[in-house]
Amino acid sequence: MPASAGLTNDKARLAAEVCAVTRILEEMNILQYSGHVAVRVPGQDALMVQRRSDSRAELSPDRILTVDFDGKVIDGDGKPPSETSIHIEAMRARPDVNATLHSHMDLAIAFTMMEGVQMLPMRARATRWKSGIPTHPDPSHIKHPQQGRDLAATLGPHHVALMRAHGLLLVAESLPALLSDSVHFQENAQAQMQVLNAGATPKPLSDAEIETILKLEDRPHHVAKMWNYYIRKALVGGAVEKDWDLLAV
Ligand SMILES: [Zn+2]
Repeated sequence: MPASAGLTNDKARLAAEVCAVTRILEEMNILQYSGHVAVRVPGQDALMVQRRSDSRAELSPDRILTVDFDGKVIDGDGKPPSETSIHIEAMRARPDVNATLHSHMDLAIAFTMMEGVQMLPMRARATRWKSGIPTHPDPSHIKHPQQGRDLAATLGPHHVALMRAHGLLLVAESLPALLSDSVHFQENAQAQMQVLNAGATPKPLSDAEIETILKLEDRPHHVAKMWNYYIRKALVGGAVEKDWDLLAV
């Protein structure tokens, strides 16, 4: 289990995790030239996020900003992303959420542009979204706190919200959990799209199947396994740097 699977007070570690998760998701095309990852600063109404214009493929821990819930930079030098309200308002509304992703994932957007099609939990790892996958109706970029609050209201108690013609907000208890959930969310979207492309009717997990799966699920173990796999893979490929020390427990 990585030390960060729970909450850690080590801001340097959290900054390195933001960079690692961002760079890994960029390699998977879940992030591209825009979109971002944020993490709550433990015990404060503040979060850590990248500078708005830094490349998602090259983030560096020493450039990560700390931003308070009024949107003011309180540590670091530079401007946060213009859509930082997405992260602030999700964390303000949801004390259980410590890590957030805003992505313009192609498949997530596609599911907001089809009449009569709802994204559903299809694959066994999609039990995370059993409560629902709401779609926020406003396709605008989120520039103002009220827009962020409206999106957080759409998110409600769920773990993801699609944003019509725009992207998604995905939330989790830690950055390793956010990475794992992001991978599985994309897998699930691909699976449903494959079914639709085959001309078939999607057959999502039933409530009974979801309960059976959850009885056997060990989320902390799975998150740690996914973290180990993706960090090691990124170390080999160069997306994560060795001196970030992200495998240490
Ligand atoms: Zn956006």
